[in-house]
Amino acid sequence: MEHCRCREIEGKLSHDHKGRAVSSVPGFSFVPGPVIVGAGPSGLATAACLKEKGVESVVLERSDCIASLWQRKTYDRLRLHLPRRFCELPLMGFPRDFPEYPDKGEFIEYLESYARRFGICPRFEETVEHAEYDALLGLWRVRSMSSKGEERGARTRTYLCRWLVVATGENAEAVVPEIEGMEGFGEVIKHTSLYRSGKEFEGKRVLVLGCGNSGMEVCLDLCNHNAMPSLVVRDTVHVLPREMLGWSTFGLSMWLLKWLPMHLVDRFLLLMSWLILGDTARFGLNRPKLGPLQLKNLNGKTPVLDVGTLAKIKSGAIKIRPGIRRLRHHSVEFADGRIERFDAIILATGYKSIVPHWLKEGKMFSEEDGLPRQPFPNGWKGGNGLYAVGFTKRGLLGASADARKIAEDIGREMARNPSLQQPSSSPLLIS
Ligand SMILES: Cc1cc2nc3c(=O)[nH]c(=O)nc-3n(C[C@H](O)[C@H](O)[C@H](O)COP(=O)(O)OP(=O)(O)OC[C@H]3O[C@@H](n4cnc5c(N)ncnc54)[C@H](O)[C@@H]3O)c2cc1C
Repeated sequence: MEHCRCREIEGKLSHDHKGRAVSSVPGFSFVPGPVIVGAGPSGLATAACLKEKGVESVVLERSDCIASLWQRKTYDRLRLHLPRRFCELPLMGFPRDFPEYPDKGEFIEYLESYARRFGICPRFEETVEHAEYDALLGLWRVRSMSSKGEERGARTRTYLCRWLVVATGENAEAVVPEIEGMEGFGEVIKHTSLYRSGKEFEGKRVLVLGCGNSGMEVCLDLCNHNAMPSLVVRDTVHVLPREMLGWSTFGLSMWLLKWLPMHLVDRFLLLMSWLILGDTARFGLNRPKLGPLQLKNLNGKTPVLDVGTLAKIKSGAIKIRPGIRRLRHHSVEFADGRIERFDAIILATGYKSIVPHWLKEGKMFSEEDGLPRQPFPNGWKGGNGLYAVGFTKRGLLGASADARKIAEDIGREMARNPSLQQPSSSPLLIS
C-alpha cells in the first residue's frame, strides 16, 4: 500500500527546465540539486558558487528577506568590523566607491545585488524544522514550515535532496542569560538583537552586559546619544586598535602570520596596542594570558577592535562594573556589593547556533554548541552529502572559503555522474 503511494508520487515528480525542484504532489518536492538552509551571506555565497558550476539549488529562509541578521537584528550604527576586502563574497567584489568599512546599509545593498546577479531567489518564510537522512532512499528529507500570510500555520513541505547545505549561521538565536531578580527589575531589558539606537535611551542610565565588539559599540552609541552607559566586564578581554601603522590590525596580522609564528605576532600586536591605547587594565579591562590570535585560534573568542569606546571609558563617560549578583526593583546589585539604579539593561551576550534542534544526524554537528565537531578547516563536509558553511568562527572570509569548497565538491560529483540530477534515478519512498 505504502509502496503504491510511493510509486504514484515518484511518477508525479519532475523538474523544471532549470533543474529546480519539483513535484505535483502537494507538500513534497524533489530537488535535483542541493537544498541550502539559510539565506545569509553564507547561503548566498554557496548558491552563487554552485551556480557558477552550473548547479541550481533551492534556498530556504525562515525570515522574509535575505541576510536577516543584518536587516532585522543589528543596530543602526553598525559597520563591518573588518576592511571590505576581507568581507567580500566569492565571485563579486564590493562596488569601488564603497568605503573601507562599509556600513550596514551598504553591506545589505551589496548582498541584495549579489543575490540579483546570481539569480538567487530564496523561498522566504520557510523555517526548516526537521531534516534527516533517509538511508533507504539515499536522500535527505528536509521538512519546512511556511509562515507566509496565506499559508500560515497550515503548510509544511518536505524536500527530498541528495545534498543538504547548512547555512543557518553561528548567530541563529540570541543568548539571554538567566539573572536572579530579572522579573522584578521593572525596567527595559533587551538583547542587542532588538537594540537599534541609543536615541530611545537619551538621559537614561543604561547597563550593558557583555564586552565583545557589540557591547563596546552599543556603549559608544549610547554615549553619542547622551545616555549614561555602564559596562559589565566579568571576564578578561583583548582590546586592539582597529588600525596600526596605517594598516588594518586584521590585515597586518594576516600578513605577519605569513612570516612569523603566531605567538610572535601576538607579542607585536600587544606591544602596538599598549603604545596606541595604553594599559587597558588601568581602566578595568584586563587582558587574557594568551595573546589575541592564539585565543581566537583556541576557542574562537574574537578580540575587540576599538572604534572609539576606549576613549570614552578613559574619560569616565562609560563606567566599568563587575559581574551582576542580582537585579532588584529598578536597580542592580553587583558582585562587589555595590547597588546602583538603572533605567535599562542591554544584553550584549551574543548568539548561538541551534542546528541540532532541527538537523537529526548526530555526527557532524555537536549537540553542545551546534557547531561542526571537526575544527577548521575540516568542518565543512559531513557524510551522505551534508555540508556546513559559515561555522568556522572566521566571519565572512571563512564562509567564503567554505562556499567555494562545497561548490567544488558537489560540482565534481555531479560532473562525474550527471544522472544524479534525475529524479527517476532513485525510487522515491514518501511516507
Ligand atoms: C553584529 C555583527 C557584526 C559582524 N561583523 C562582521 C564583519 O565585519 N566581518 C565579518 O567577516 N564577519 C562579521 N560578523 C560575523 C558573520 O560574518 C556574520 O554573522 C554573518 O552574517 C554570518 O553569515 P551567515 O550566513 O553564516 O549567518 P546569518 O547571517 O546568521 O544567516 C543565517 C540565515 O539562516 C536563517 N535561518 C536560521 N535558521 C533557519 C531555519 N531553521 N530555517 C530556515 N532559515 C534559517 C536565518 O534567518 C538567517 O537569515 C558579524 C556578526 C555580527 C553579529
